[in-house]
Amino acid sequence: VVDERTLISTFFDRQRDRWPDRREDVILGIGDDAAVLRPEPGFDLVVATDSIVEGTHFPPGVPAAAVGHRCLAVNLSDLAAMAAEPLWFSLALSLPRSDPAWVSEFSSGLFALADRHGVSLVGGDTVRGPLGATVTILGRVRPGCAVRRSGARPGDGIWVTGHPGDAVAGRLLLPEATPGAEVLALRQRFLYPEPRVREGLALAGLASGMLDVSDGLDDDLRKLLVASGVGAELDAGELPLSNELRSVRGAEAVECALTGGDDYELCFTVPVADEARLREVAAHWPVPITRIGTIVPGSDVRWRLHGQPLTIPDSTFRHF
Ligand code: ADP
Ligand code: MG
Repeated sequence: VVDERTLISTFFDRQRDRWPDRREDVILGIGDDAAVLRPEPGFDLVVATDSIVEGTHFPPGVPAAAVGHRCLAVNLSDLAAMAAEPLWFSLALSLPRSDPAWVSEFSSGLFALADRHGVSLVGGDTVRGPLGATVTILGRVRPGCAVRRSGARPGDGIWVTGHPGDAVAGRLLLPEATPGAEVLALRQRFLYPEPRVREGLALAGLASGMLDVSDGLDDDLRKLLVASGVGAELDAGELPLSNELRSVRGAEAVECALTGGDDYELCFTVPVADEARLREVAAHWPVPITRIGTIVPGSDVRWRLHGQPLTIPDSTFRHF
């Protein structure tokens, strides 16, 4: 059995390696009682924590690399939704047993994403328990530049990145024994969500309000509306449904996009006067943006589809 210390030094502590992209603002990383980090003067720190637990956030048997990717991706997504730049993270890992092969694959998935975004793992904890991982991420933002949920104003357009609904469809298709190309693409969207970090950063100064879609587009959007004290008129016919989602879910595709979770796309509002600038900024993004509605005074949320009012079933997952 490989002990805890060996797991940490083998799979998580990369300071020993000649690590070319090691951050100079990590004064002391893994190996002591705590990490010492040096934020650059002139920035505010931004902190977020998200956990993923087997059986709650992902089913048993998901590839370890996907669990590693996901526990960091969901946190990067939270920082993206603030228009913050991610810098460092810590990892609390709970394992039912010491399984070096699993941990090796987990750390590959984790570091592949970390390296793409230039974030450093600076510490954590490793314990025995139900399979799960908690990441705390730290990032920075110029004072006053964080985009909050509370900034949406009547008249602002409501926008979403990417293709909501794909991830929930992918999750439902995990048990498929002989997946075709479409099923594989949707699965990938669930297993390896791409946090919209660069897109979120680019929305600083453009978006009046923003959050990331983790619980479902309708449910998350309502959180933004409540925080901003506004209502919305939305057209479900404008939803950017992917071809894969339409093909696999047919008539249920709209419901997947509205109520399915795990998208990790950004939902944001932009004053109409800034729309041209938004389209310019987003023109070269690897992900499309779509306007799905308009902020209105009051607190009503009205979805329509083909001109008819649409009632959204409350299928949102709640822990308690
Ligand atoms: P302590 O007893 O002081 O909590 P630990 O033995 O738990 O120390 O951890 C030793 C070092 O390894 C610490 O620097 C801690 O931050 C780091 N560490 C432990 N688990 C992880 C992990 N899963 N990922 C990254 N660093 C970790
Ligand atoms: Mg410890």
